[in-house]
Amino acid sequence: MNSNSKEKISEAGPAKINLLGYDLAHMKAFFTEIGEKPFRAVQVLKWIHQFGVDDFSQMSNVSQALRARLADIAEIKAPEIIMEQKASDGTIKWLMRLDGGNSIETVFIPEDNRGTLCVSSQVGCALDCGFCSTARQGFNRNLSSAEIIAQLWIANRTLNQLEVHNEAVSSEQAVPKKAQDSKRRVITNVVLMGMGEPLLNFDNVVEAIHLMLEDHAYGLSKRRVTISTAGVVPALKRLREECDVSLAISLHAPNDKIRDRIVPLNKKYPIKELLEACRYYFSGDTKKKQFTIEYVMLAGINDSENNARELAALLKNLPCKINLIPFNPFPNSEFDCSKIQMINRFKDILYKAGYVAVVRKTRGEDIDAACGQLAGKVKDKSRRVNVKAQH
Ligand code: SAH
Repeated sequence: MNSNSKEKISEAGPAKINLLGYDLAHMKAFFTEIGEKPFRAVQVLKWIHQFGVDDFSQMSNVSQALRARLADIAEIKAPEIIMEQKASDGTIKWLMRLDGGNSIETVFIPEDNRGTLCVSSQVGCALDCGFCSTARQGFNRNLSSAEIIAQLWIANRTLNQLEVHNEAVSSEQAVPKKAQDSKRRVITNVVLMGMGEPLLNFDNVVEAIHLMLEDHAYGLSKRRVTISTAGVVPALKRLREECDVSLAISLHAPNDKIRDRIVPLNKKYPIKELLEACRYYFSGDTKKKQFTIEYVMLAGINDSENNARELAALLKNLPCKINLIPFNPFPNSEFDCSKIQMINRFKDILYKAGYVAVVRKTRGEDIDAACGQLAGKVKDKSRRVNVKAQH
């Protein structure tokens, strides 16, 4: 819980409290605060997240008097979808409107045996990695927990409707079933790999993750929710204590010299400290298997055979697998993607050194939905956060 509901109620005046981003603890505190029993929290969470309801009047197991009261003081409010694009490979990208001319992007990637939602955590990003187009947008602000979970809420509602529609069409049913009757889970995995650095928006990201894991909300397993980070070391340590989901580390370089250049955060938290934090993250828990090392393949920068050997030595004895990501170009980027032969040679060297290394398939390319292509719209790009001030 990252804010006090009492404060919000008394200060808010006519503005309503948005319950969309409240996790179970926060929701219980809210109901206690307004003099109701905490079990109401479970009922309302289920309506919002399992049934996709945003109207209190539909919450049929809540008394009419309470429904009316809730409608008076609270709301369930998600950003508005301003664009939905579908790629030829089935990837879907949504552009969602926030306040003040900002917008964010969310991507759904369907695969044979799973559906992954790529979620944004900030409007823009402050880290300035040279190969990432989100960085070009600068940074505006953190997303609230409501704006983070809203991406899953919206995608779930939209995809369930699609699914129900398809089922209805294929069985020629006259009346489609309700979205919540659809048994098959469409979104099985969530990755925080959209716009922003999730660990620089710690509290809101953690509250949204609580909802992803919560049985009364989305009930995803910890292993199916992944935080991708450029390596905010102190926040990684905190994350282990508070919600130890799966981890992907945007390493991208086998040494500090190269990493300083392409991931400026490295100057503050160099590779050695970052990998120590990863080791700590996994210490003492045998159930956690591995984390993912992300490595974007940039021609002539980090893709030589020597770089591969150096990377293999660097990661020795760490429980990780390696994702090689072909660089996705964007207008005026200073980098080129490595040739496919270089990527394969790099992979073979890692493989021979005993690592599981895979080349990540690029998805949604024709709608600019691939890694590092999410741009959204950031108003007032001059606002850069001082990383030091936060941690
Ligand atoms: N800030 C977080 C999450 C966002 S980026 C992080 O750094 O991990 C998600 C992943 O896409 C990261 O591994 C990032 O390095 C990678 N990426 C960014 N731009 C890319 C590009 N143009 N091509 C390929 N991968 C890119």
